[in-house]
Order: sequence, then structure tokens, then C-alpha cells
Amino acid sequence: MNPCAPVSACRCCGGGRLESVLDMGDMPLANDFHNGEARPRFPLHLLVCQDCWHGQLSVAVPGEALFRHYAYLSGGSRTFRDHCRQLVAAALGLVSVPGGRPAVLDIACNDGTLLSLFRDAGCDVMGVEPARNLKRYTDRLGMPVVNAFWGTDAALALGRKFDVITAQNVLAHVPDPGDFLAGCAACLNAGGVVLVEFPYSLEMVTRNEFDTVYHEHLSYFSVNSFARLVGRSPFHIADVTRLSVHGGSLRFTLRKGPGPHTPAVGDLLQDEQDAGMFRLSTYREFRERVGASRTQFRALVAGLRAVGEKMIGYGASAKGVTMLNHFDVELDYVVDDTELKQGRLIPGRTIPVVGPEVLRREPGRLNIVVLAWNWLAEIRERVRSLRGDRDNLLLYVPGVYCCDLAPREGVTA
Ligand SMILES: [Zn+2]
Repeated sequence: MNPCAPVSACRCCGGGRLESVLDMGDMPLANDFHNGEARPRFPLHLLVCQDCWHGQLSVAVPGEALFRHYAYLSGGSRTFRDHCRQLVAAALGLVSVPGGRPAVLDIACNDGTLLSLFRDAGCDVMGVEPARNLKRYTDRLGMPVVNAFWGTDAALALGRKFDVITAQNVLAHVPDPGDFLAGCAACLNAGGVVLVEFPYSLEMVTRNEFDTVYHEHLSYFSVNSFARLVGRSPFHIADVTRLSVHGGSLRFTLRKGPGPHTPAVGDLLQDEQDAGMFRLSTYREFRERVGASRTQFRALVAGLRAVGEKMIGYGASAKGVTMLNHFDVELDYVVDDTELKQGRLIPGRTIPVVGPEVLRREPGRLNIVVLAWNWLAEIRERVRSLRGDRDNLLLYVPGVYCCDLAPREGVTA
């Protein structure tokens, strides 16, 4: 693949009427933590298909550059582990396996968090994961994991079949989602289910979650656009559920062949119609709101800096990295629990990443930008446990606002 292959046809429906939504210019890769050396930048430009309304990036950075070394560990969040427990219960309620030991494949299994829960529930588990650096985590848990990018070739190479296939937050990462589903079909047992989760584009657009747009996310699915993709695959949509995880996601249940679907599918299509997801003006308004947030946030940072306030970030998430670069702001440092990120610099910035123990040593009151805003409740609890109630939390999604641990005069967003 060309280092930056431009998209000419919609990844879901194959149509060619792609329209610009949000062009952030050349941006660093959101997980490319560095030590001060020059790093590459790539165009970050969100388009929408005017036929199926699928959101997608204008160019695809090769997966080798994005996913062979991956700094995001899914098990780092307690909220996410709880979400995985719920997924295991839902999946095992959907299949009936003679002998009672379902075979489970988790695609892009990351650090093995979900797989270990399936194993604890008595399943025969296997994972596939392209990031080589995550192997030590899955080895520690004793998980059998194949190092590969998913698709038909990887599926056939496994040489076995499964009753449950899970794919959390990976389908939006792949350049050919049709081949991804074909791979699932190739290794699914009769009566088996595929459970696919990804962020919901309706949430992104209506809640101004512009910072979920980064190079790893090639696709921004709605029910409408995903249904078009599934319609070109060996599957049908049996069910869909809205989830609160990752700022608002969808979980689809797919089964092979034609078949019925639950009323939830039609209900969500109606929600999308009502939210204006099938007209261009909605996407233009989204772009305007993001521009207004940028202006407001930069003014807030400048105001706090002018009076000598310290500004830090919490959570060196890909979302936060995207915001810091698109809004073009510097912070004193960013706190993150992930050892892989500590001691390095935020992609595209000169902001160091430090461990949470630094917060214990900070005197006075801090302005803490919640960069991993999808984990707000956890972060607030963590800051409280380390420092009490003296700090201010600042958020920028869905708009710029202060979420005070303790009320404070004179600082409004
Ligand atoms: Zn399309």
C-alpha cells in the first residue's frame, strides 16, 4: 500500500460521493509517544459518504505504522473490565454448545483482558493481535495469541472454527472491513455469533467528540452505514445495543445467512434520521461547533496561564493527544498510569508524560484537563484519592467547561 493511500470509494457501500467534514491538517499519530526526535505527520481529514453516511478518513496510514507497537492497554481501566464481564455474559447467553465448552476467538485481543474473562467462564479461548509488544501481557495470563492482522488470510491460517467471535474496537481500524467480516465468516461454527463493538458516529457528531477522529480510526460507523456493509457480507444483523463505553458505542450481534433482527435496529435507524445524520448540514454544524470549542479552550488556557496557573492533563489517551494537537495547546505535563507512556513526550508536543505519584508532591491547586474524558468518573475518584478536593477539572467534550472538585471563584469556561 502507498504510505498514505487516498480513499476513493466508501469503505461501507463502495459509493464515490465523499464530502469533507473536518480537516485537521497534518497530525502526528496519536500513540506515537517520542523522546524529542522528529516524527512523521499524516493528513487527518474526516469525510462522509453521501450515499450511506459512513464517516471515514481521507487517507489510510499503513497498519504496520499504527498497530505493530501499541501503547493502549485495555485492562488499565476498571470501567472497561466491568464492560467486558457484561459482554462475556451476553455472548454466552447467545450460543448453545453441546458439551458446554464454547470456543471463543477475540480479534485484536490487546492485553488479553476479555479473553481471560472468557477463560474464567469455562471457554476454550484464542486471541489474534497485531501488536507484538503486547505479547508479554497475554503470555503472563497464559493466553494463546496469534500475532496477525485480521482478515480472510489470517482466518484461514488459524485452521479451526469458533462458536463466539468478539471484535471490540477494531473494525473501525481496518482498511477493508468487508474482508474483516469475510474472515469472521470463514471460521465461525454453525449457530455461532460474532459480536462487534465500535464507537457510534451519532454520538461523535451530536456530542462533538471530534477527538475520536485520529489515524487509527479509519471508519465512523452508524447503524445505517454498518447495515450497508453487512448487507454485502455473509452475515445479517440479529441485534444491536447502545453502550456507554468509549463515549458511546454500538454492539452488533451478527449471525450467518439471512435472518430476522430485533426492533432495536429500526429504532436506532429512526434515531439517526431524527438526529439529521442523513444530511450534510448536520456535519457542517458539527465542524462549526468544534471550531467554537477550539477558540474557547485556547482562550481559557491563555487566561489561566496569564495569572500563573499550572495546567496539567490526566490520561494520555489518543483522544487527548488529538485535542492537544488540533487545539494547539501546551500543558505542564500529562499524568498517565500506563508505564509504556511514562517518561516519554506527548505525540506532536513537548509535554512529558508522568506517573500519578507526581500528583502527591504537587502543592496548591491544579487545573487538570481531563484528556481521557470517557473515564471521567474514574479520574475524578483517582484525583480525589491522591489530592482531596482542591483541584479544578476542565473538560472540552461536548463543550468547554469546568467540572470542579471544589467550587472556585473567577474561573469559568
Ligand atoms: Zn457509503
